[in-house]
Amino acid sequence: MTDLSSAAAKNGHTMECPKCLKPLTVRTEDGLEMDYCEACHGVWVDHLKEKKALKIKPEVFSMDELARLRKLYVPLGRREPIRYVPCPVCKQLMNRKIWGSYSGVVVDVCGEHGSWYDAKEIEKVREYVALGGIEYEKMVKTDQGFSDLHSKLIQETTRLDVKISSAYRRARLWSLIGL
Ligand SMILES: [Zn+2]
Ligand SMILES: [Zn+2]
Repeated sequence: MTDLSSAAAKNGHTMECPKCLKPLTVRTEDGLEMDYCEACHGVWVDHLKEKKALKIKPEVFSMDELARLRKLYVPLGRREPIRYVPCPVCKQLMNRKIWGSYSGVVVDVCGEHGSWYDAKEIEKVREYVALGGIEYEKMVKTDQGFSDLHSKLIQETTRLDVKISSAYRRARLWSLIGL
């Protein structure tokens, strides 16, 4: 089942899976053409198609919904041994990147062309997005920003306190000597 209108074929070459080097086949899902590997079930997502492929759309989540994610998603700890694989379009080695900060999914990204999702990873990221993952990241960043600001303020106040009290002691000393 080969579709010659595939993005890859349009570029005049067949793309192969970066992991197992089998030719990718085009599958249409919700009207969106994506390049799949039938062998390892990975999928190539063009940068231009990312929003559609991951079903990213503006949505409003409640604080409760976002707080729930705190239990579901934790920053990645130890990662699997790293193996860099080539971009199916330009053959340059791709970077390994955590999708978002908390999804737990590490994808291979070519800055220019797109990202490679191993089997089930695209579903995991879609779920993360659907549950409010993107908004959650913003919330965590803001929380972190606030607590950083808070501890900075405390440090500054303590420093000022020390300065004021030593200045005060000096002033008292001078006034004593002045007597
Ligand atoms: Zn493959
Ligand atoms: Zn590339």
